[in-house]
Amino acid sequence: MVTFTKIQDSVYILKDRAGCCANLVVGGEKALLFDTCTGADNMEEAVRQITDLPLLVIASHGHFDHIGGSIYFDEVYMREVELSVFEEYSNEIITGWLKDMCGPDRDEDYVYDCRDWEQFRDLDFNRFDLGGLECEIISLPGHTLGSVGIYIPSLKLLLSGDALTPVMCMNFTNHGTLEDLKNTLRKVKELDIDYYLTSHHEYKMPKAQLDIMMECLEHSADARYHEYQYETPPYDMGWFYLYSVEKEPIGLILAYDTPGVGRRKPAKKERAT
Ligand SMILES: [Zn+2]
Repeated sequence: MVTFTKIQDSVYILKDRAGCCANLVVGGEKALLFDTCTGADNMEEAVRQITDLPLLVIASHGHFDHIGGSIYFDEVYMREVELSVFEEYSNEIITGWLKDMCGPDRDEDYVYDCRDWEQFRDLDFNRFDLGGLECEIISLPGHTLGSVGIYIPSLKLLLSGDALTPVMCMNFTNHGTLEDLKNTLRKVKELDIDYYLTSHHEYKMPKAQLDIMMECLEHSADARYHEYQYETPPYDMGWFYLYSVEKEPIGLILAYDTPGVGRRKPAKKERAT
């Protein structure tokens, strides 16, 4: 089941039963669905509970919790460089992950069918108009090489997918460098926005948070990292540096093979008593 949170006029967050979010923006003539969640729920049906307008569907990047629900649409736009992520996925793997994420909520017999990902189209345009709501596609490399966001100047809002999550995850497939991420933060700071949305929070993030994220990156070279493994699919591992917990936890997760980080071995685990 999909839950809805209205963020402001025309903007909704849709969360699927696996706990992943998509953004719906309703203009005067068209609507935009940004990301499609995991595939655990029929996102087309969910969108139709809010609007009957023609729908443009764009994926922020290729990770399965953003593209799994693409199967409910005929056309989903995404940067071509993200298609390489699909090599890691099979129907069998995603079926297993959805069962893990949805538990008894999911039919035992359910089998995911990616439809050979034929629904994907290259995201080869840079702006579009939903009818009174102009939108601009902004490249946000870092979390992945082809991550994009949607900048809506009249709402002073950026939809950012996973590119600007406060715990910056640089350990997943197709990730870029820390320099890519720093450049992305600098670029977004130049945009005239008040807030941004991510795909894993049901509330708006203030633009000022980007400053703390940049501080985190600047301190990360000498930071103390800890081993980390996600408890949910895709169960990836990495090195975790927690910078601040003052409001929203801000931190960084790097891939195991990040140059230089392996030297910072985590402290020896205490023996259980
Ligand atoms: Zn991601």
